[in-house]
Amino acid sequence: MIKFEHVGKTYPNGYQAVKSMDFEIAKGEFIVLIGPSGCGKTTTMKMINRLMPHTEGTITINGQDITKANPVELRRNIGYVIQQAGLFPHYTIEENIALIPDLKGWKAAKKKERVHELLHMIGLDPALFAGRFPRELSGGQQQRVGVARALAADPEIVLMDEPFGALDPLTREQLQDELIRLQKTVNKTIVFVTHDMDEALKLGDRIAVLKDGSLLQLDTADKLLKEP
Ligand code: ADP
Ligand code: ADP
Repeated sequence: MIKFEHVGKTYPNGYQAVKSMDFEIAKGEFIVLIGPSGCGKTTTMKMINRLMPHTEGTITINGQDITKANPVELRRNIGYVIQQAGLFPHYTIEENIALIPDLKGWKAAKKKERVHELLHMIGLDPALFAGRFPRELSGGQQQRVGVARALAADPEIVLMDEPFGALDPLTREQLQDELIRLQKTVNKTIVFVTHDMDEALKLGDRIAVLKDGSLLQLDTADKLLKEP
C-alpha cells in the first residue's frame, strides 16, 4: 500500500539525507525503521505524509503518486505520533483527540462517542480524563493520548516517530504491549521509528535497517538475526 521507488531526499543545503530507497509496505503491516541517529529515519517518515517532500523517485500510496494528492487530504489519512506527544497545551484531552474529526466536520455527538471509545481503548477513564489538560497527565498518559489522537479519524496509515523514546522503561514496555494489542484490533498499517533494537524486534512484522540514508535490509526479525 506504501511503495518507494528510488526515493531520495536532498535538503536545500545539498545534503542527501535519503538515497535511492526501494521498498513496499503491505496493508496492515507493522514496519519498524531502525538505525543510528542521523541515518534518515525521520526524513523517511516525513516524506510519507509530505511534511518533507522527496526530491528523487516516486512514492505511491494505494497506487496514487503522493505528489498528485492534496496534501491536506493525504495527512488526514495518515496519523502521526511523535516523541513528546505534541498535544496542544491549551486544549483538553477530549479536544486534542477530536482535532482531526473536527477538521473533517464530524458532528458533536459522533466526536464525543469516538473520543470516549478511544479513551477506553487506551485505558483512561473518560469521566476522569476527557476534561483534563495535558499538563495534568503523566508522560505515559500523554503518549497514550497521542496515539489515540492519531487513530481518531481512523486513518489507514499511522506513522510513529520514537513515540516511547522519552518514557521510563516500565511505562515504555507497557505501551509497547498495548500497541501490539491495538495493532491486532485496528489492523492499521504502521511505520514505527526507533533506534532501540529490542523495541524493533518486539514490535515489527518486518524491520528496515537504515544506514547513512540507505536501506540496508528489510526483513522479518528471524531473518534479520540470521544474517552474518
Ligand atoms: P534520523 O531520524 O535517523 O535521526 P533524520 O532523518 O532526522 O535522521 O536526518 C537525516 C540527516 O539529514 C541528518 O544528517 C540530518 O542532520 C540531516 N537533516 C535533517 N533535516 C535537515 C534539514 N532541514 N536540512 C539539512 N539537513 C537535514
Ligand atoms: P488546516 O489548514 O485544515 O487547519 P493544517 O494545514 O494545519 O489544517 O493540517 C492539515 C492536515 O495536516 C491535518 O489533517 C493535520 O493533521 C495534518 N498535520 C498538520 N501538521 C502536522 C504535523 N506536524 N504532523 C502530522 N500531520 C500534520
